[in-house]
Amino acid sequence: MSVLALGRRTSRWASRFKILHSQATLFRTSSSNCFFTSSTANKNEDPVRPAPPPIRVSLTESAGRGVFATRRIGSGDLVHTARPLVAHPSLSTTHSVCYFCLRKQKATSQTQAIQFCSEECEEQSMVFYNVERRANWSDYDNYCRTHGLKYPLLVKRLACMVISGVAAADSFDILQPASLSPVMVSEMEEGFSLLRNAFTNANICDEQVAFLTNKWYTSVLARIRINAFRVELVGGLYEDLLSSAAASVEAEAAVGNAVYMLPSFYNHDCDPNAHILWIENADARLKVLRDVEAGEELRICYIDASMDRDARQTLLSQGFGFHCNCFRCSSGD
Ligand SMILES: [Zn+2]
Ligand SMILES: [Zn+2]
Repeated sequence: MSVLALGRRTSRWASRFKILHSQATLFRTSSSNCFFTSSTANKNEDPVRPAPPPIRVSLTESAGRGVFATRRIGSGDLVHTARPLVAHPSLSTTHSVCYFCLRKQKATSQTQAIQFCSEECEEQSMVFYNVERRANWSDYDNYCRTHGLKYPLLVKRLACMVISGVAAADSFDILQPASLSPVMVSEMEEGFSLLRNAFTNANICDEQVAFLTNKWYTSVLARIRINAFRVELVGGLYEDLLSSAAASVEAEAAVGNAVYMLPSFYNHDCDPNAHILWIENADARLKVLRDVEAGEELRICYIDASMDRDARQTLLSQGFGFHCNCFRCSSGD
């Protein structure tokens, strides 16, 4: 079962559908402060450095790395925010959300235009947007659409960022990869060829796309598969809430997908003490759901927590490659 299929099945809980494995193998502790932002950190006019978040990333007893509280955190408190390393709208929302931050945009007469919600978003994405718009993406987008794939769009965005010089080709190496079967790897070859051809046909020089090998494509996609979050905004208009309540279960509530650094180090629990939510754009907010004591591990739920034990175990095993031994699963709930 693909992660995509799993994502489709989850509805209200989809925003908590954490696509990450619990065993990140690499973590540069010395640079951990680069992995989060805070609401004050983004305001240039505020000269005060925000306090670091009350967490540390350390080894757990059984699940590789994990995130731990360094002090008591009260229920409902915001632990930290995180900006995406890479974000991309869904194919269905490409023209209705911000190209960079996925904020919902008002419909315009130019329905086929790429939109930016602000000058800041336009500035931040201009160099890689300029690479992306040189190429014709119809074949690549069609490939994604016909196969029901969303993650190759994140690979495309990352490739444009690497070509434009704003991201390193090895940006995702720190993330845990999914283990891929030979069949899965061969299925990715078509996507790789289409991506490479799009750049070649756009006359982007060989030197600039030298990193873009089949191995790179597969390696990035393997990491995106278990580290991408489906971004579902909860801060929409009241009318949005009404219409989504009335909409069919097949409606696409997500505005897009994104990959983060620090949020990828949170382990899973079927009865989590923390969760991630998105208010108005792809900036993730990590909040605790109940009081957490100093030293306690913060865990989020990668899947729909309302499912029964067997369904959760199957999803976690097939989608994320691990057997859940959380307290709730152990007690048969
Ligand atoms: Zn924006
Ligand atoms: Zn469990």
